[in-house]
Amino acid sequence: MISDRINEQSSWRDLTEGNKIYEPATSVQFNTGEWRTQAPVHDEAKCKQCYLCVPVCPDLSISVGDNDKIVFDMDHCKGCGICSKVCPFDAIRMEE
Ligand code: SF4
Ligand code: SF4
Repeated sequence: MISDRINEQSSWRDLTEGNKIYEPATSVQFNTGEWRTQAPVHDEAKCKQCYLCVPVCPDLSISVGDNDKIVFDMDHCKGCGICSKVCPFDAIRMEE
């Protein structure tokens, strides 16, 4: 989980560092979601579960969960907005 210490007033010095690899398979420990300025908001009523958004996420932050619903990993979503662009049903909008 992204810690409560990170908010809009946080300095870049408080964020998780990138480009540092101390041992294999540690990328999941870097909560790059802290870098995000916009977040995807999913409208389940509009979602047709076509899963076009799943493979396009560059951070592998969208998966298919229980009941075949998509799940966002907000610890690692960087808020790029690609999922929102590809959704043909306008079921993902980006918010500040
Ligand atoms: S692309 Fe849109 S409609 Fe398709 S699964 Fe993703 S959110 Fe749902
Ligand atoms: S905003 Fe970008 S990083 Fe976040 S879930 Fe969508 S595609 Fe992935």
